[in-house]
Amino acid sequence: YTAKKQRNSAVVFDEPSLALHLEQDKLTAGLAIAADRDEFIVHYQPKIDLRTQQHLGFEALVRWRHPELGLLMPGRFLPLMNDSRQFLDMTRAVVQIAARDLRIWKDAGLSPGSMAINLSETSLAGPSGYELLGEAIEENNLDWRDFVIEVTEDVFLNRQAEQIHASATRFREAGARISLDDFGTGFASLVHLRDFPFDELKIDRSFVLNLGIDTRCEQIIRAVIDLSRNLGKRCVAEGIETDEQRRFLLSIGCDAGQGYLISKPQPATQARAYLTGRACNGGRLHFSQAENEETAP
Ligand code: C2E
Ligand code: MG
Ligand code: MG
Ligand code: MG
Repeated sequence: YTAKKQRNSAVVFDEPSLALHLEQDKLTAGLAIAADRDEFIVHYQPKIDLRTQQHLGFEALVRWRHPELGLLMPGRFLPLMNDSRQFLDMTRAVVQIAARDLRIWKDAGLSPGSMAINLSETSLAGPSGYELLGEAIEENNLDWRDFVIEVTEDVFLNRQAEQIHASATRFREAGARISLDDFGTGFASLVHLRDFPFDELKIDRSFVLNLGIDTRCEQIIRAVIDLSRNLGKRCVAEGIETDEQRRFLLSIGCDAGQGYLISKPQPATQARAYLTGRACNGGRLHFSQAENEETAP
């Protein structure tokens, strides 16, 4: 950070950068103990079948309930986690919470569908992610088939490609499905599409966002949907915010969708209410533009 030598030779920091730095330090220090203090919570965002509007499952998205700063989004703290043990502790918390909630919803007679867990490249490459999930499945009397593992294309940057293939295969052989997240923005090449063992491809939000604005995005989405269909994979569009986007994706054969239009990520109590509501109204959804910000109870 920037420090200026003043005439009296005391070191003076530029105010904004000092504030930023203190906050980063505070976050980094807090991250080391966040899991121990049960400060990680999970919000759930539904995924639906675009044709039938049927509920397919939830994606578990981590949030950090910071004692002073309130609810923090992953974009704010994941980049600060450079310690693999911290990642592991967070992943364990997320997996345990998500598995427990899935169990509770099933016990209540609801149909929560599958639970998608985002795994970082470190959790996927090592044995840890698999073991954490295995423990949670056992403890909650669930099945591997209840879970989807979302990995971003970053995994292909890792030099241990074989290890990543082996891990993905292990998840799949156990019964979980693998989803290629944020497709189109990262490092997946056609070779990966050919060789990587996966079941589902998620078109990145940035393409969906530009539908109706940039015709090139429309063409790219069409091509990706064709490609995934020809490869026998399910295609999911993320970040659907408007009914126009939903109708367009449906018209070009996209299988599934997620986005604020359908539902924001929500705390467990609200996710449960969403499931109950869907069971009552025969599974149809009412699409109206989302306006309110994501909240925690
Ligand atoms: P992602 O897996 O691609 O998750 C989708 C992100 O888009 C989420 O942001 C979600 O809240 C947001 N989103 C969904 N629908 C819409 C929409 O219609 N409009 C807009 N503007 N945004 C939408 P979030 O929760 O902030 O998560 C950001 C990223 O952090 C995730 O991207 C994922 O890569 C990572 N992440 C989240 N939870 C975990 C976790 O438990 N473990 C790991 N390793 N990474 C996680
Ligand atoms: Mg994801
Ligand atoms: Mg995504
Ligand atoms: Mg994304």
